Amino acid sequence: MAVLMTERTPRGSNAGEGTATATVKRPCEASTKQGTPCRAFALPGEPFCWGHHPGRQADVRRARQKGGRVAGQLRSIEGRRKKLDSAAELIAFTSGVVQDVLSGRVLPDVARACLYGISIQRQLIEASDLERRLDVLEQQRLPAPTQQGGRSWGH
Ligand SMILES: [Zn+2]
Repeated sequence: MAVLMTERTPRGSNAGEGTATATVKRPCEASTKQGTPCRAFALPGEPFCWGHHPGRQADVRRARQKGGRVAGQLRSIEGRRKKLDSAAELIAFTSGVVQDVLSGRVLPDVARACLYGISIQRQLIEASDLERRLDVLEQQRLPAPTQQGGRSWGH
């Protein structure tokens, strides 16, 4: 027996919004440089996402011009790109960055970003160092893992 439930949601009473904000998320109509459809959502009421919106192009151009100076700085740093995977290299790079800032060759903002990266890099080096040492310890304690046959693929 089907019982008819009359849904009584207390909507309707405040019909303030509803017209412009029919926000069903639609995908952006533009396509990427690779030719695949853009996977971002379109802006509300627009066919394109933030990145593809024509009105944004001016903003993008402006941001690019502003970025030009920074890009120049980055290129000068890139010339001496290093692996930075050891404490010694981090130390050398850091002191280079500091000296470049002092001499005005590198903008403080760029240096700040570099030093932030350095601090992350240091943590990663420390972490992987620790991992390697733990690996050695574990290999000393545990018997080598036995090869398990009969692995079931699928299902
Ligand atoms: Zn898009």
